[in-house]
Amino acid sequence: MNRVGIGYDIHRLVEGRRLLLGGVDIPHEKGLLGHSDADVLLHAVSDAILGALSHGDIGVYFPPDDEKYKDMQSSIILKKALSLAAQEGFHLVNIDCVIIAQKPVLSKYYKQIIDSLSGITGLLPSFISVKAKTNEGLDAIGRGEAIAAYAVVMMNK
Ligand code: MG
Repeated sequence: MNRVGIGYDIHRLVEGRRLLLGGVDIPHEKGLLGHSDADVLLHAVSDAILGALSHGDIGVYFPPDDEKYKDMQSSIILKKALSLAAQEGFHLVNIDCVIIAQKPVLSKYYKQIIDSLSGITGLLPSFISVKAKTNEGLDAIGRGEAIAAYAVVMMNK
């Protein structure tokens, strides 16, 4: 049985925070604001997995107002989503994702991000696709005020 899930997330860019995308530290003058480490890509992938399982979203398992999750590594969120999937006999088949960021240029980090996602999920890198778009200068993302990510996953059991 196959199931498909989609995930989306957006976080504000602010000074004085790290920019983490897919578990990779990306040098930039701003970073993503959030209760956890604000890794927008890992949140989108985690939501896609939960979506494929019809299990709501990561806020169900990691409420943003819960102090114990403050500054938490988002790889923990992704691993929780994968363990919920495994409990139901599902494993991840592939991930395709899009990061929308006006700056910085992300193409040179694709390999690192794919390797990081591979390390967290156990998927072979050839089953993980990462690409980035600017927002053509439009709206908040285009003004460099936020970064968003979309992810689609296939799950199988
Ligand atoms: Mg988020």
